[in-house]
Amino acid sequence: MNSHYLFWNNSYRKQAESVLESIIEQEGLILQQTLFYPASGGQPCDQGIIKIGNYSLKVENVKKFEGGKTLIIPEYIPNDLKIGAIVEQFIDWDLRYKYMKMHTSLHLLSVVIPLPVTGGQIGANKSRLDFDMPEAVDDKLIIENKINDLIKSDLIVEQTWIAEEELDKKPELVKTMSVFPPKGSGEIRLISIKSKTGQVDLQPCGGTHVNRTVEIGKIEIGKIEKKGKNNRRVNIHLAI
Ligand SMILES: [Zn+2]
Repeated sequence: MNSHYLFWNNSYRKQAESVLESIIEQEGLILQQTLFYPASGGQPCDQGIIKIGNYSLKVENVKKFEGGKTLIIPEYIPNDLKIGAIVEQFIDWDLRYKYMKMHTSLHLLSVVIPLPVTGGQIGANKSRLDFDMPEAVDDKLIIENKINDLIKSDLIVEQTWIAEEELDKKPELVKTMSVFPPKGSGEIRLISIKSKTGQVDLQPCGGTHVNRTVEIGKIEIGKIEKKGKNNRRVNIHLAI
C-alpha cells in the first residue's frame, strides 16, 4: 500500500496538507504525500493549485517519478522555498470527479464488452476503450442500455490488495493495457465492483473511481470506430 498517494484511500478529498520533501531543480517539487494524481494508466493528471508560505502556484503537470514518488510541476519554482515547508494542495474537484465517473464507467464498459482491452484514454468530455474486436458485437444502443443498467443497479466500488505472486497466478484479472501500481512494491491494488449478490468486475488499477456507480448518472455510447483489422474503439460520454 502506497501511503504517498492520498487519493487511493479516499478519492473524494479535495484538499490536503503535506510537506515539501525535495526540489528537483528546474523540474518540479516532490511532496511527502500527493493529492494530485500523476498522469498514468490512461487517466490524465489532476489540475489545481498548491500553497507554500505566501506563494499560490498553479499546478501545470503531475508525473510519476522515480522511487514511487510524484513530481508536481508548478507554473514556476520560487527560489526561496524551504525543504520541510508545509504545502497545501487543492485539486480541481469538478474535473477530478468527471475523471472518477469516466474511469469507473470504463470498468463497466469492459464488463459489458467482455473482450481483451488493448488501450484506453480518459477525458472529461470523452473517454474510450480499444478492444480486440474483429467483428462488431452488440449495437450501440444495446451496449448503452447494458452499461446504464449496471450504473443504475448501485454497484459498490472498493479497493482491495493482492500480493504480486497471487496476481501472477491469476493473469485473467489483468484486462487493461496498463497496471498503474508498479510491480516491485509487493502488493497490487485491485478495484472491485460488486452488487449485493456478487462480483461484477475485479481488476488491477491505480486510478480514481466513484464509490457507488449511481454517482455516474448516465452514459452515452459515442462513436464505435474501426481501428485496424482487429480493433474497435468505443467512445463514451457522460450524459448531462
Ligand atoms: Zn480503474
